[in-house]
Amino acid sequence: MDTLANYINGQLTNENTDNYLENINPATGEVYSLLPNSNLNQLNTAIAAATSAQPAWEALGTEGRSYYLNRLADKIAANLDQLAAAETEDTGKPIALATSLDIPRAASNFRFFAQAISQFASESHNMGNQAINYTLRDPLGVVGCISPWNLPLYLLTWKIAPALAAGNSVIAKPSELAPKTAYLLSQLCIDIGLPDGVLNILHGQGNKIGQAIIEHPQIKAISFTGGTKTGQIIAASAAPQFKKLSLELGGKNPALVFADCDFDKTIDGIIRASFTNQGQVCMCSSRIYIEQSIYPSFKQALLKKIQTLAVGDPLTDVILGALISKDHQEKVLAYIRLAQQEGGTIVCGGTQYVPTGRCEGGFFITPTVIEGLSIDARVNQEEIFGPVITLQPFNSEQEALALANGTNYGLAATVWTENLTRMHRLAKQLDVGVVWANSWMLRDLRTPLGGVKNSGLGREGGWEALRFFTEPKNVCIPY
Ligand code: NDP
Repeated sequence: MDTLANYINGQLTNENTDNYLENINPATGEVYSLLPNSNLNQLNTAIAAATSAQPAWEALGTEGRSYYLNRLADKIAANLDQLAAAETEDTGKPIALATSLDIPRAASNFRFFAQAISQFASESHNMGNQAINYTLRDPLGVVGCISPWNLPLYLLTWKIAPALAAGNSVIAKPSELAPKTAYLLSQLCIDIGLPDGVLNILHGQGNKIGQAIIEHPQIKAISFTGGTKTGQIIAASAAPQFKKLSLELGGKNPALVFADCDFDKTIDGIIRASFTNQGQVCMCSSRIYIEQSIYPSFKQALLKKIQTLAVGDPLTDVILGALISKDHQEKVLAYIRLAQQEGGTIVCGGTQYVPTGRCEGGFFITPTVIEGLSIDARVNQEEIFGPVITLQPFNSEQEALALANGTNYGLAATVWTENLTRMHRLAKQLDVGVVWANSWMLRDLRTPLGGVKNSGLGREGGWEALRFFTEPKNVCIPY
């Protein structure tokens, strides 16, 4: 069995590790590796390394830092198959998804910020003939990056890349449920000769090493992606020290389907938006609102197609693999039972799936569709984060908008219509951070990404991320 190690001061090390956590392959239910359950001693060592490495890293300048980020991108691309296999083993996601989305995107994250930093400029404000102001944007120092299990390397690198590009050194903590690709990334950092201490990756539990990172006075900013409840704990812990915070949290994302949509394209789009990664993408649609006049035909076509989606061994040609853990599978099944108690009808799926053979101990659920629930139902208000969607008809654009905006979340929405004017009108009024028109997860890395209400604080992507990881300082010089 593999034993993973922390990456501290340029080395893979398990020094001072007093215990290890088990890492389970969710497609088989078997323990297949151990990871260090890191502690404050290790954090202090990592922070000392990061603190001493940061000035030289900053002094390398944008070209020097870009060189390393591009080399990391190249290494990730060159190790695509190994990384994708590790991501699938850790998360249970279909290997085709890990190969086509997770790992290529991790490489793109480094490549994108390697380039972006070379174009990052600060402001200058001229005060007539009185004075000139210019704004310095210096790195913050040592920053913390904490990421979840659903898109492990993709989301970890989405934070690390801008933090490093901007000249910070980083303490990163991947999810304890999906640590393998972060461990492999550490090896790639060593291979490319990334300067020691610039990036440190500590494995372990959120409420232990994660919390210690949040509370540590030498960590100047926290970029966090994860659940809303964890985000609240982090915000409360970081506030007394006035740390900079970027919180990308949960969602309960609506899809609005109008009668004038491109029917077939919308069916395919809704299926992708609902069930990619077993519905475990923060941006996944989970509440599908359909204009009454096409509700019966749309529902029928949707169900017909959903019933063809293959579920099972993620190493085979399936659309849905396993959920991340037994606990999570139970949580999702509990929501399906709750839907029935709340008066909903399961019109498709709704059950645990037990494959035969290698994956019989895995954590699978069939793609599930529920109808008959009102907007007030808990199943329509709370994030389930699994392959579960609800359907509801609407009669007017106003009603659709009220339903879409009717939760405490505000991450993403999709709108399916061929009416451009309606699209613009809705995009303006939807209470979310991201709107996709007749599409889903079409990402330009320059655009801001994040949510409103309980979906978070701040934005990632493009200049937003580089601004987050730098401190502006205005300098005013009279003429
Ligand atoms: P969690 O909030 O449980 O965990 C996220 C990370 O935070 C993990 O590394 C976790 O460690 C760590 N953590 C947990 N408690 C603390 C703490 N007290 N202090 C510091 N760190 C802590 O989320 P999940 O991993 O379950 O991820 C799923 C959630 O992430 C969903 O709600 C989803 O919507 C959200 N998400 C949001 C995205 C966005 O862009 N808005 C994108 C992707 C996911 P450990 O693993 O050890 O518990």
